[in-house]
Amino acid sequence: MVTQFYGNTCFDRATLSRKSEGGTADRRKTLYIPVWKNLFLYDWDEGKVQFYPEIPNEWAPVTTSKVFLGIDGGCEIFCLDISEIKRPERTNIVLLSLRKIFPNLNEKEAALLAYAQGILHWHGTHKYCGRCGSNTKSEEEGHIRVCCNKDCGQILYPRVDPAIITLIEFKKKNSPAVCLLNINKTGKGLKCSPFAGFVEIGESLEDAVVREMKEEVGLEVHRVRYMASQPWPFPSAIMIGFVANAKTTDYKLDGDEVMDAKWFTANELLEQVNKGTLELSNEDSIARSLIQQWISKHCKRKT
Ligand SMILES: [Zn+2]
Repeated sequence: MVTQFYGNTCFDRATLSRKSEGGTADRRKTLYIPVWKNLFLYDWDEGKVQFYPEIPNEWAPVTTSKVFLGIDGGCEIFCLDISEIKRPERTNIVLLSLRKIFPNLNEKEAALLAYAQGILHWHGTHKYCGRCGSNTKSEEEGHIRVCCNKDCGQILYPRVDPAIITLIEFKKKNSPAVCLLNINKTGKGLKCSPFAGFVEIGESLEDAVVREMKEEVGLEVHRVRYMASQPWPFPSAIMIGFVANAKTTDYKLDGDEVMDAKWFTANELLEQVNKGTLELSNEDSIARSLIQQWISKHCKRKT
C-alpha cells in the first residue's frame, strides 16, 4: 500500500496528553505553526514554512486558539489560529496556501500542516452548539468543543467527511486493460483524474463507489478493491481510493459533474502525458497516485 502525501503521521499524536493541559515534564521544547485564514507563513529565502518556538507578543490575543498536534523528538507542536488579528507582515515572509507550498514540504511537514489546516477549519465552523445555539469553547488542548450552556453541555468532536475516489478499469481477454478517466479543460490543456464523490449516510464505502460510478458515468462496476486513503483537509475530507471493474465500456456522462471522459490504455496515457497533451491530477493527490499505480501495473515504462 502506498502512503499518501499529507497522510504520513511520522510524529506522536500523544492523544493521552490532550487531557493534561499545560504539557508534561518530559516536553522540553515547543513549536507553534501559525495559520492565518488557511494560509501559512512561508520564508522565500529559506524555502521553509515558519514554525515559532514561542508565541510572539503580537499574537498574544489569540493564544487560546491553539491546538496541540503532537510530540516530535521531545518537542510539543501546536498550531495557532491567528486569523482574528491583522494580516502578518514580516520581511521575506509570504502567506501561502498548503496546495501552493506542498512541493517544498517533507512528509512530516505536510502531515502537520494538513492536520493544522483541517482541525482549525473544524474549530472555525463549530463555534456554536448545533443543539441549543449557545457558544462552544475549546477544551482538551483543542480536541473537543463543549457547549457553554450548562443545561446542554454537548461535546463536539472533530469530524471528517469521507469521500470515495475510484479508478474504473475494463479488461477483455487478449486486449490491454483500459481505464476510464474524467477529463477536464484547464488553462493549459486537458487534465485527467479518477471519479470521486462523498459517501452518503447509511451507505458503505463499496456502495458509494457503485452508486457514484453509476451516477457520474452510467457504468455498473463490480470487484471494488480498496487501494489507499488520504487526509484531504480542503476543507475536511478523507479520500478513500478504490479500483473497480466496469462490466462494459459504454459510459454515459452525467453532463453535470462530469463533462468529458475517456478510456485509455496505460501506454496511451503515458504517451499523452509525455507529449504534454494530457496532464495527470496534482502531484500531492491520491487521484494521481491511483493513476500512477495503475500505469505501473499495466505498463513497463514509468511516468
Ligand atoms: Zn448546547
